Amino acid sequence: MHTPEDLQQGYRRFRNGAYSDRVRLYQDLGEGQDPDVMVIACCDSRAEPAEIFDAAPGQLFVVRNVANLVPPFESTPGLHGVSAALEFAVTALRVKHIVVMGHGGCGGVSASLSAAKDKPVGRFIAPWVELLDASRDSVLSAGADDPQTELEHVGIGQSLDNLRTFPFVREAIEAGQLALHGAWFAIGRGELHWRDAQTGQFQLIT
Ligand SMILES: [Zn+2]
Repeated sequence: MHTPEDLQQGYRRFRNGAYSDRVRLYQDLGEGQDPDVMVIACCDSRAEPAEIFDAAPGQLFVVRNVANLVPPFESTPGLHGVSAALEFAVTALRVKHIVVMGHGGCGGVSASLSAAKDKPVGRFIAPWVELLDASRDSVLSAGADDPQTELEHVGIGQSLDNLRTFPFVREAIEAGQLALHGAWFAIGRGELHWRDAQTGQFQLIT
């Protein structure tokens, strides 16, 4: 995929392939969506939720941003894109599961580590990855062997904690209608690791 022509050619393959195999599904989806799972993933082109979970259109409600971060609940005015998607997923779609999915070699996580060394990161990226500051500082002060991977893991836990600061998320969890999960994808090996809610450790799914 290099040019608009490549994209249009890809669309033609979709029309003749995946779409024509799923005409009925698309007709049904044209009436509305009812996904049970929300995924919060990174923008990174290599960690594609629908591909990794082998999910069909209509099954995953996906938000992607730099470093798969969830900001804490804030009542200040502002353009809260992630919070708006979260509100819609939980209060309107009533998703049953939210998965925060990180990945290896994350540029957003690496930007957070660079910022700790006073290396310049982008104008918009810098304040965004500050969401990782507390996690990053604890990873660095613990002297992790591999701070990049460790922060990718700990940052997922931080986003899960931040999810629980939203009143409607907490209420849905307390009502037994919503569960939160963490996952981390090792790109080169194509392996998904699932976060243990008790220990915060990641286990390879077999
Ligand atoms: Zn990333």
